[in-house]
Amino acid sequence: GGGRAPEAARTRTTCGYCGVGCSLDVLTRDGEVIAVSPAHDGPVNRGHACVKGRFAHGFLRSPERLTGPLLRRAGRLRPASWREALDHVARGLRAAVAAGGPGAVAAISSARATNEENYLLQKFMRVVIGTSNVDNCSRLCHSPSAAGLTATFGLSGGTDGFDDVETADCLLLVGANPAEAHPVVGARLLQRTLRGARLVVADPRAVGLARYADVHLRPRPGTNVALFHGLAHVMLAEGLVDEEFLRHRASGLPELTALLEDYSPERAAAVTGVPAGDIVAAARLFGQAERPAIVYGLGVTEHLHGTDGVRTLSNLAILRGAVGTGRGFGVNPLRGQNNVQGASDMGALPDLLPGYGKVTDPAARARAEEVWGAPVPPRPGLRIPQMFAAARSGELRALWVIGEDVCATDPDSTLVAKALDACPLVVCSELFLSETARRADVVFPVASWLEKEGTFVNFDRRFQRVRAALRPPEGVLTDFEVIHALAATLGADLGCPTPADALDECARLVPAFAGLSHGRLDREGAVCWPCPDPDRPGESSLYRERFATPDGLAHLSAAPYLPPGEQPDDRYPLVLVTGRRWAHYNSGGMTRRTDNLRLDPVDRVDVHPDDAARHGLRDGDRVRVESRHGSASLIARLSDDVAPGQVFCAFHFPSSGVNALTSDRADTVTSCPEYKVTAVRLTALTKD
Ligand code: SF4
Repeated sequence: GGGRAPEAARTRTTCGYCGVGCSLDVLTRDGEVIAVSPAHDGPVNRGHACVKGRFAHGFLRSPERLTGPLLRRAGRLRPASWREALDHVARGLRAAVAAGGPGAVAAISSARATNEENYLLQKFMRVVIGTSNVDNCSRLCHSPSAAGLTATFGLSGGTDGFDDVETADCLLLVGANPAEAHPVVGARLLQRTLRGARLVVADPRAVGLARYADVHLRPRPGTNVALFHGLAHVMLAEGLVDEEFLRHRASGLPELTALLEDYSPERAAAVTGVPAGDIVAAARLFGQAERPAIVYGLGVTEHLHGTDGVRTLSNLAILRGAVGTGRGFGVNPLRGQNNVQGASDMGALPDLLPGYGKVTDPAARARAEEVWGAPVPPRPGLRIPQMFAAARSGELRALWVIGEDVCATDPDSTLVAKALDACPLVVCSELFLSETARRADVVFPVASWLEKEGTFVNFDRRFQRVRAALRPPEGVLTDFEVIHALAATLGADLGCPTPADALDECARLVPAFAGLSHGRLDREGAVCWPCPDPDRPGESSLYRERFATPDGLAHLSAAPYLPPGEQPDDRYPLVLVTGRRWAHYNSGGMTRRTDNLRLDPVDRVDVHPDDAARHGLRDGDRVRVESRHGSASLIARLSDDVAPGQVFCAFHFPSSGVNALTSDRADTVTSCPEYKVTAVRLTALTKD
């Protein structure tokens, strides 16, 4: 005896960082993670993972981890028992409803949390509070994809399973930097390119894959729609379209054809700054491909006209007959957060129930009422930006924010902070004392993705299991447990006591999820929705027979190009684009508390050398970045990845205040912020 270390336990789970959904094997011993290895049989990652999923788990044992509730007393957050914290919140919720009705309460659900937690939270808000004031961070990233893809094809998700990209012969990558933000997808796209697919990259920046592109289109930020129309113009003019498909499976061609007369390559070039010859070359590559694929990111959605961007990008796939036919890889958004698809699928949205039934549709409500045994509020609730506006005006009296650092990641953070300060009860569920938690009245300490059971849905609509590799620290509950506990404190019983029960209940409610259960996912590993039948596989590629629109057709969009909301001028001559870098994830709440901090210790602003020279800036200088909305202090990085006249930075370090710069202007359809276009100026602060 003695001396031998206990056996390590191995837990198969799904990465909790980005929406790729890599399968990971987590090795633990004595309550510690000792290694994370990518699963060789993971359906998306096939043995690969990135620096985040593989190495960024040290946050679990960070000394800053919250291990007990906090309650604001005499102006300061102080430790409290769960009983005290829950009672305080229950009293506050009752007071808010008494003063302003159920609509005076709102919740921001979490795309980090599981499907089951999102399902339970929206049920809590609708059934226990009696309001549809529930939203999730897809509002800030891919709500234009949800709206645009639904209007175009009928369902709110990518059109095809990612495996189909393996047979694509031309990849059109738009407004995404998968080499850093979705590295496993980036690696698979690169593999496909190296094996012979043509690659067109459309992005203002020289993103990682642009180096391998046949054509790199660099539109001015905010001019996507003109670029897509320019490409469509060339495809139509040169007959690079699928006429049979357009005749039988699409609508809107006459309107689009008429509109496109105004979008010659020369006109599109004048608007976008992309040379007309490049537009023609890219249109030919895409239009002549047998199996073209469109993969896009937030560079398409986070605009004043982001929904138009998604729809007019989709035009290209429709014109080519590359969607719903098995030819090509359709139109596919790279989702940011691990479970942002699932949070919306589960109905954590103010206008939509689980499975995307409209709250205004009596039939959809009746179905939910039957399963829940309770009335469902018929009025759409507030979207996240509207919640903040309602808090500032005094109409919103209680806000519960789960796992989202809204003070760091939402646009125009000065206004967000004012909203939280004005709201009588702010509750925050968090791992750490985030910028948002600091402003809360009650903080619930909750479990991370490595400490709970449930499911996530990745970017290609795949349900995968999430399993607890570790128990949460003493005093910490899962979001699932907290939602139940708060309901019980209010005297309500939400049913579905376990996460498996919650998915079962959701499957009874939503026909597209009817074939899903934890048991099935444990046996099969991953199942795509729609999956109406427990004995049949889910559908990874959609629309083979018909589109899910009311008339069964794909709808071409004839939306004209409209300029972005932010325009540079003499005072703010540069355009700031924000995005993500390789080692960190969003506000960095987790990754900054791991060894990844050493890989990337600070937010930097990329400045083109010509602009740097004009401002007297050297690499490493501290620089003040100012917009019409606020200012931030960053380290300059000289780089010709950005075009002259543009600067780029991430927002991984809340202390740098990048989102004080961005505006609260938003997509006219979905309220998704215009993060990708902010007029700024630079001032050198030090030279060291
Ligand atoms: Fe996790 Fe995304 Fe990296 Fe895969 S690519 S390991 S899902 S962060």
